[in-house]
Amino acid sequence: MKFNAHLEDIEIYEAGKPIELVVREFGIESKDIVKLASNENPYGCSPKVKESVSKLIAHMSLYPDDSMHKLKKALAKRFEVGEENLIVGSGSDQVIEFLIHAKAHSNSKILINSVTFAMYEIYAKHVGAEIIRSSTQHHHLEEFYQLYLENKPEIIFLCTPNNPTGDALDAQEVYDFIAKVDKNTLVVVDGAYMEYAAYKDKNKAISPKDLIEQFKNVIYLGTFSKAYGLGGMRVGYGVADARIIKHLYKLRPPFNITTLSLEAASVALSDEEFVNKSIALSFQEMKRYEEFAKERKIDIINSYTNFVTLCLNDNQNSTQLSNSLLQKGMIVRDLSGYGMNAIRVTVGTNEQNSRFFELASEFI
Ligand SMILES: *Cc1c(COP(=O)(O)O)cnc(C)c1O
Repeated sequence: MKFNAHLEDIEIYEAGKPIELVVREFGIESKDIVKLASNENPYGCSPKVKESVSKLIAHMSLYPDDSMHKLKKALAKRFEVGEENLIVGSGSDQVIEFLIHAKAHSNSKILINSVTFAMYEIYAKHVGAEIIRSSTQHHHLEEFYQLYLENKPEIIFLCTPNNPTGDALDAQEVYDFIAKVDKNTLVVVDGAYMEYAAYKDKNKAISPKDLIEQFKNVIYLGTFSKAYGLGGMRVGYGVADARIIKHLYKLRPPFNITTLSLEAASVALSDEEFVNKSIALSFQEMKRYEEFAKERKIDIINSYTNFVTLCLNDNQNSTQLSNSLLQKGMIVRDLSGYGMNAIRVTVGTNEQNSRFFELASEFI
């Protein structure tokens, strides 16, 4: 049987190893496994979410409210934008899928940072679009502008803070860059960790409202999977000019967000205190990683997220290290696939981090 030739080029994406897999592969009991690999919120989600979601369990036989009224109203209020400026996806991953399918085709180019979120390239390959990569590990917007002039890409992705490196661009720098790009190029600002960046440094905070008031060719992406602690519920969103949203809607399957997920996200948005508290705790715990790196003389990238990227020395190997840690039940992300001799570790709870230091000390 023949398949779409574009698929030949795609390798199946391996998301952070689930705990269940480590249980099966290494025979470690799940209570002894610590997963610091997917940047989930180690403090879970707001208790209010659990309470309201559990009340909805009786409604599972009915399709969800496809207008997503409650969640859209809550998002519109939070970001001070119109409901016509919003699209909700099964994770912001799905919004990335929509926008690439809506804008790119087999003759398109898509400009991304040299090291960045893997899904941009995977969805680009769905449509056979060509990926253009910058040369530097951190976004360098002057180079981006040169590459833009040379390649005339259909879409430009700016991931700030960037995953898997944790660094962030200044908001003003991003605005100045977008202002120079022509109106037919879609600029995507992926703010999956923006809540963390905004907490740490106001200069890094990009508000969707600011973006869409200034530019008609930009979409901001946010997610409930990270700071809001709802990775298992799969809810993300895009904020853009109504014309962009209208086109993305053509690709959206009906009922793409479950009843429970819609409720969870709406309620999570109302408990700002929970989110702020977990962000504060995360940065407090991050200091221990900075200490650890200093003591062991390894580089740590200044992070505006809930993870740290530890760049190993030449006599250390990130694949070996992450495998050794895995055998002890500690799941972290090996970044060798990104061309880096580094590991990415989600900042966990105090206890989880202590466990990481204890295990990693055997190898680093
Ligand atoms: C986690 C993440 C996303 C999307 O996550 P969803 O769970 O699909 O909402 C998007 N971009 C980046 C950079 C991420 O790290």
